[in-house]
Amino acid sequence: MNRINYEIVVIGGGHAGYEAAHAAASMGAKTALVTLSPDMIGQLSCNPSIGGIAKGHLVREIDALGGIMGRIADHTAIQFRLLNRSRGPAVQAPRTQNDKSLYRLETIKVLKKKDLLNIVKAEASCLMFENGKLSGVELSDGSILQSSIIILSTGTFLKGRCFIGDWYFKSGRSGDKSSDRLAESLRRLGLEIGRLKTGTPPRLDRKKLDLTSLSEHKGDDDPTFFSFDTRPGDQELLPQQPCWITYTCEEVHQVIRKNLHRSPLYGGIIKGIGPRYCPSIEDKVVRFPDRDMHQLFIEPEEADSDVLYINGLSSSLPLDVQEAILDLVPGLTSKAMIRPAYAVEYDFVQPRELLLTLEVKKVPGLYLAGQICGTTGYEEAAAQGLMAGINAVLKLRGKEPFYLGRHESYIGILLEDLVTHGVDEPYRMFTSRAEYRLVLRIDNADRRLAGYGHELGLNSTSRMELFQEKWKRIDQTRDFLENTRLNDSLPGAEQLIKENGFPKGSLISLLIRNPAFSMEMAKNLLMANGHYLNPEELRAIHNEIKYVGYIRQQDAEIKRLRNIENLRMPAGLDYRKIPGISREMSERLEKSRPATLGQASRIQGLTPATVSILRIYLNTIEKRKP
Ligand SMILES: Cc1cc2nc3c(=O)[nH]c(=O)nc-3n(C[C@H](O)[C@H](O)[C@H](O)COP(=O)(O)OP(=O)(O)OC[C@H]3O[C@@H](n4cnc5c(N)ncnc54)[C@H](O)[C@@H]3O)c2cc1C
Repeated sequence: MNRINYEIVVIGGGHAGYEAAHAAASMGAKTALVTLSPDMIGQLSCNPSIGGIAKGHLVREIDALGGIMGRIADHTAIQFRLLNRSRGPAVQAPRTQNDKSLYRLETIKVLKKKDLLNIVKAEASCLMFENGKLSGVELSDGSILQSSIIILSTGTFLKGRCFIGDWYFKSGRSGDKSSDRLAESLRRLGLEIGRLKTGTPPRLDRKKLDLTSLSEHKGDDDPTFFSFDTRPGDQELLPQQPCWITYTCEEVHQVIRKNLHRSPLYGGIIKGIGPRYCPSIEDKVVRFPDRDMHQLFIEPEEADSDVLYINGLSSSLPLDVQEAILDLVPGLTSKAMIRPAYAVEYDFVQPRELLLTLEVKKVPGLYLAGQICGTTGYEEAAAQGLMAGINAVLKLRGKEPFYLGRHESYIGILLEDLVTHGVDEPYRMFTSRAEYRLVLRIDNADRRLAGYGHELGLNSTSRMELFQEKWKRIDQTRDFLENTRLNDSLPGAEQLIKENGFPKGSLISLLIRNPAFSMEMAKNLLMANGHYLNPEELRAIHNEIKYVGYIRQQDAEIKRLRNIENLRMPAGLDYRKIPGISREMSERLEKSRPATLGQASRIQGLTPATVSILRIYLNTIEKRKP
């Protein structure tokens, strides 16, 4: 049987898989991306949208590091929105509605351009070992891809079971097979494996609906892009599409309550826990009994098709119940159903089994990334895939691993939360998970992370030069604002003094904190004095100046913690040998195998005394280094 050698093999062409494969090949590793159906690479299995609160933050960080999700999302967006526009900058986040077919085509196009990356259409069925070491993967046709480094990103496919009422079928998602043999192969490794579930709503045919009675929900006229490379006007935006809003009603809730015993989740057939923040409509009716309506968004799945996605109506209730519900929701009808709602239950690996690099502690060379690690969401998956791809190559090259601290990125928070605390329900990112969210804004992800991407070989020098020119412009403008006063000789000041009544002699940077001083006024004054910034750069400056006090506080806090955040724990450290550390603490540390002292300090049950003993110990060994 044929054997082919690769440096890295990625299994699974979902959002984790394509980011991992793209990163590995970009860093110069000969990479195979093995996936069941290559034409489904980058499939948006459910909601045809990218981003949203905190998820949008992840996408911008992926882009800053050199990942591809942000660019693809911009190029396939049929609606752009900046969420939380009226709230503080820490929680503002971009979101796009995307054409799901174009998203897939664009992803495949980007991957096909990658030298060193080979896409293999196959089912990976069993991990191979030689002398106890990972040596490759067997494909269902018996051929073997040899590699000492494998990244598993099989999403919802491991022992995937899809449910509609009491009917179920083996599948990782509708239209795809489930991945049972590989699931067995993983179970044989003695990893902690659990079951989770997620669900998707019905798809309806727009031609059979009358949406005129529903309120339209348009996108922004001034789109906020995900990628730092996308400029207003530099790409043909797809025709922007509206969404519509409708609501369930009490009659719908009664139908659901009457049939709850027929739902596989409430009927006990599904054991897996579902995503708390992406509940099915039956979950909502049970959890919020006093709510007499639930909002639904009717969203187009593609620019030129009539398929509509009913966001908020995911369910695993039987078909006849789903039809009864549709006939009761204003603007919808069961006659328009193209595909029913369904739930999928699947295996996941408890992420406490992983190091901060997403490598499996018990199986050196095996990395896991994406929904397989207990997360939910394209963006969480893509972020893990990028980090797994980067660290797989660094391991291959015998280099130090790459970590991101939670003080510098949402990606750092995601990975640390997963591997330190594990999951007991599908994990999704929130801004509330960030201690320093005012520092981790969408407008400065490039400044925080692009340099790492360049060092790793993911950001080209020309891209870095563009970033540096941008930051230079911002710094010069900031200098101008902090050292210039409003007076008659200042171009553009007259109107601000005479018409808007701003006091002469005031520092412009102080004016910016005045709510009456709009971004438009700032922009005009800057242009009158030769400072030309695009809306994105203007927003960055505005945020930095307006929230300077809070930002300084968080920076000081980060500085204070930095030395413990970045203090690395030597691989293979035997905690039992460190004087003063109790047996219980050494067992907790051994189980978690933290990469940094920062991560160690957040291990459940680890005492502050243990952290300080560790800090003294690590500083001593640091000092002894030649
Ligand atoms: C029904 C359903 C509802 C969902 N609802 C939501 C939602 O509302 N919001 C949300 O954010 N996310 C939702 N998701 C989850 C979303 O699809 C995932 O978060 C995201 O796709 C995870 O990305 P991933 O790369 O981990 O896995 P996936 O995107 O699932 O990709 C897995 C890939 O692995 C491949 N694969 C699997 N096994 C093998 C094998 N043995 N050999 C070769 N290739 C293999 C598959 O072909 C696929 O390409 C839903 C998913 C499903 C199926």
